[in-house]
Amino acid sequence: MLSIPLLRTIALLYLMLISVVSFADITEAEIRTIFPKLTRIGEPLVNPKVIPVYQLDELLGYVFETNDLTDLPGFSGERINLLISLDASGKLVKLSVLSHHEPIFLHGLGEQPMLEFLRQYEGITVDKRVIVDSRHSGQDQSGSSTVYIDGVTKATVSVLVMNDTVLSAALQVARAYLEGFARPPSVTVRDDVYQPYNWQSLEQQGLLRRWTISRERLQTEFPLDLQDYADPELQQALEQSDLPGQYYYAYLNTPVTGKNLLGEQDYARLKAVLRPGEHALLVASVGHYGFLEPEFRRGTVPSRLGMSQNGLPVDIRDLDFFDNSTPQMPSDAPPITQLGVFRIKAQSGFDPSQAMSLKLDFDLARNHLIRDQAELSDSYQLPAELFDIQEVVDVKPLPLWQRLWLDRWLQITGLVLTLLVVSAAFIWQHRLSSHRRLFHRLRWGVMLFTLFFIGFYAQGQLSVVNIYTLLLQLMKGFDIEVFLLDPVLFVLWTYVFISLFLWGRGVFCGWLCPFGVLQEIAAKLGGWLKLKQVKIPPKLHHRLQKLKYLLLLILVGSAFYSVTLAERLAELEPFKTAVTLVFVRSWPFVIYALLLLGVGMVIHKFFCRYLCPLGAGLAVLGKFSLFRWLSRRAECGSPCQLCRVRCEIDSINRDGSIDYDECVQCMECIVILNNPDQCAIELSQNKQRQKAAAADNSIVVQQL
Ligand code: SF4
Ligand code: SF4
Repeated sequence: MLSIPLLRTIALLYLMLISVVSFADITEAEIRTIFPKLTRIGEPLVNPKVIPVYQLDELLGYVFETNDLTDLPGFSGERINLLISLDASGKLVKLSVLSHHEPIFLHGLGEQPMLEFLRQYEGITVDKRVIVDSRHSGQDQSGSSTVYIDGVTKATVSVLVMNDTVLSAALQVARAYLEGFARPPSVTVRDDVYQPYNWQSLEQQGLLRRWTISRERLQTEFPLDLQDYADPELQQALEQSDLPGQYYYAYLNTPVTGKNLLGEQDYARLKAVLRPGEHALLVASVGHYGFLEPEFRRGTVPSRLGMSQNGLPVDIRDLDFFDNSTPQMPSDAPPITQLGVFRIKAQSGFDPSQAMSLKLDFDLARNHLIRDQAELSDSYQLPAELFDIQEVVDVKPLPLWQRLWLDRWLQITGLVLTLLVVSAAFIWQHRLSSHRRLFHRLRWGVMLFTLFFIGFYAQGQLSVVNIYTLLLQLMKGFDIEVFLLDPVLFVLWTYVFISLFLWGRGVFCGWLCPFGVLQEIAAKLGGWLKLKQVKIPPKLHHRLQKLKYLLLLILVGSAFYSVTLAERLAELEPFKTAVTLVFVRSWPFVIYALLLLGVGMVIHKFFCRYLCPLGAGLAVLGKFSLFRWLSRRAECGSPCQLCRVRCEIDSINRDGSIDYDECVQCMECIVILNNPDQCAIELSQNKQRQKAAAADNSIVVQQL
């Protein structure tokens, strides 16, 4: 008995396959090796989540996980979690994979091509456009804002998802924490708006803001009389009658404020000091209670003075702008006691055309133990004519799935045309099958197109892994984008799903499954080589047919326990080896696929009949098909057994009925039925008719 040792061999080989897959695991020690100069890992920052890395106090860069920043699902429906390190200049330093479920890399090509793909990003600055296109990848790209990198053959979707993941996550981090990566401003300063003004005119024009804090106003914020606070600065101000306090502030980037307040020279110097997208604010005070705390150090962030816009704090830092020069204020400026120019970073989101608020903290000590605090604020808004305000049209790239649909238009068109031909063959099956030769040519034509175009070229091999993805997605909340990422599989699954309810599983298994076609070719080869065909005894055949349902149950069940395990177990299907990777894979996988095809040369579609979990899944869904399309005659089964004998996968029962769970709709039985020179009943009836006619003729001859 061939089948039992054979199944045992296949089972052993399969167990070998699922144990050779390995997974990458990145440890914290490896993260530390990314920056060799590292002396200190900083406290994690939360918005967005990154770990800063320092050499003493100098920032070296950031390390972050992409799962904290993006939610792009991969081909498996799960995100590809990458560990990325970015240096302080915005260059990608190292990228490694923390976790992923991309089937093609897990159990197909291996993880090496994935790591090699990611290695291409090292040294690229995040403000570059990175395009995955092997045709341009070798070209000199220095000085260009676009960088082309190599893709990975057979893993188009996965690498595009990785590309989007890397760029989106790294750009978010750069925009949040690094200088010079802020979004291009929607508001630009108009350099042509300028008029010479003195201090008073600037105030009158609303370009310079005077903020007066009266003694009464300040008193309302404190429970004790202001004189009772042990604050020497405040007391001095009170003694000198400096309260009400006078504070002035102005936005300096606009020429009309900058040039008039600083003078031409210092305005030019300021513009040179500021990085792209940065802003400067001048603050001045008159009197003894200044806006800078006594212990303030130049070049740092003041604690007494703050700024906000739209309710959100805006960080300001002293520029120490006058450390080597004397301010050239307008001649009518009041006697300024404290003056500062502050830098507002580009990534602060500050918009100078909108209202801005300055705030002063008063922190007064009652005694050594008790302090009282109050915060006072003042707002002003510059005239709109100082700015060019453009609508920010955030040019978002098309969603990945749409780009993939556009890229793969040829494959989609070829597939849709094939599906139309298959549908026509099913709709007009009787008319077609009555032309035996034409029908056979049509079916083999479709099957060869399925293998070479849909299978090898368009990678349209359905798999039980797609069923896992669907079930897991249904459990987590369905996201159709996961399925749209592969247009060929999406169109094919949609068609197969609909056709299951019309014609059953056979539409796919008999016409559209690339590995099914390979098995039919193997069977043909077996026939041409005149190999003796093995007929499995009916009892054993029926038992073995159940095996695929059990395998389906185990595989799908395992997906609920662990997707990784389920993906390993799915190596039961030789589809990835034979169709996706066209047998270019490590030898155990190739031997396994070849063994199944070899067996298929003597047992027609052995894998489909007994082992295929996808075929089993389709058969289960096909039970709900609305029609039983294959016609039968009253004589089918009794007395005629011709179709049953000719059905190569033994899906016709002894009584002539068809087992639609197993039938692959090759339509060989209706070819017989619709061809009088094939159907045994027709042939015998013809014979009888001819005999009767011959008998009638002889009677006539005798009578004559
Ligand atoms: S049973 Fe499996 S391998 Fe066979 S044709 Fe159907 S899906 Fe393809
Ligand atoms: S010959 Fe067998 S497999 Fe083909 S259509 Fe008829 S019953 Fe189905």
